Amino acid sequence: MIAFNKSSITEEEIKHVLDSINTNHLHGDGKYTKLVKEWFEERIKSNVLLTTSCTAALEMSAILCDIKPGDEVIVPSYTFVSSINAFVLRGATPVFVEIDPKTMNIDVKKIEEKITNKTKAIIVVDYAGVVPDMDYVNKIAKKHKLFVVEDAAQAVGSYYKNISAGTLADFGCYSFHDTKNYTMGEGGAFITKYDDKFLSAEIIREKGTNRTQFTRGIVDKYNWCSLGSSYLPSDILSALLYGQLNRFDEIMEKRMNIWNYYHENLKELEAKKFFKRQFIPKDCKHNAHMYYIILNDKETKNALEKHFKENGIQANSHYYPLHLSPMGKTYGYKEGDLPLTEDYSLRLLRLPLYADLTQKEIEKVCSTLKEFFYKNN
Ligand SMILES: *Cc1c(COP(=O)(O)O)cnc(C)c1O
Repeated sequence: MIAFNKSSITEEEIKHVLDSINTNHLHGDGKYTKLVKEWFEERIKSNVLLTTSCTAALEMSAILCDIKPGDEVIVPSYTFVSSINAFVLRGATPVFVEIDPKTMNIDVKKIEEKITNKTKAIIVVDYAGVVPDMDYVNKIAKKHKLFVVEDAAQAVGSYYKNISAGTLADFGCYSFHDTKNYTMGEGGAFITKYDDKFLSAEIIREKGTNRTQFTRGIVDKYNWCSLGSSYLPSDILSALLYGQLNRFDEIMEKRMNIWNYYHENLKELEAKKFFKRQFIPKDCKHNAHMYYIILNDKETKNALEKHFKENGIQANSHYYPLHLSPMGKTYGYKEGDLPLTEDYSLRLLRLPLYADLTQKEIEKVCSTLKEFFYKNN
């Protein structure tokens, strides 16, 4: 069986996890959380706080956007539930926007027509580690005085115009979930370039207290200051991620080689119009988070998915549009509201991609794909 995803854990990660256990500081903000925070701050040139998940970082963003019941938040329908649920938790109403089928990202040209006097924020998602046109999004947001939140869960190590993904909006969110490029099992990061928002974020992350300032010796006792929750991860998990970061380039290179192999190898099938390969816009440097193809219709996608399974290969479709989910429908959405999202989401198939996928396995995926099309046509 060729798995869809596997995390790449070596002696390097295990060494730091054991060290962390031996430091007798198992809770948050110990040695390893600091090391990881500094590693990212240096690399992406922004303020970073490690969190228990990307979902947690999104919830922190929603609190910082001061979302109140009745506020509207603009978001793509083709995304993971947390992109919007974090805001709905604070009372927001989701306003779903169509995708640009070229990248499966929010169609930035269709954002402005959805803005009303209730709109508070725009959520963009860097799908497959590809950042949408953020210059355009930020211009609209500035004009209408809206917050922008970048759900960069999949985009650690990606760039837009040579600027790190996650730093392109007011607030950015990373995920270190098992299914992402770099993992701590469950985890994430909150990112902001604004120092004042960063101080508020530290408080939100520590149950609404200024304990982080207390630890740094800025205040002599800590107190309840604002809304908040427990959003800081155990230092053991940070140690795991620290090990992964010491292998950052190695993991990236392995993933990129697989991505490039797929892209090169499947060129001939695209030329024969069997499907479209993933597209990377010229402003974006991606991180090989995902390799997907878009089939010509959903029947072919389903048949191919089955063909892969019969050949011991796990290939997966992705998001079911949120506007057609049971929760989405409670806001009055129905089939036909976002035709491109509805159509393309059923035609997309992701191929296995993880650092330790072997050359033999990648070749098997490609030959199984070729066999499917050449036998049926
Ligand atoms: C994985 C993912 C999340 C959730 O990440 P967690 O760390 O599991 O909370 C959110 N948004 C997107 C786009 C994701 O891919």
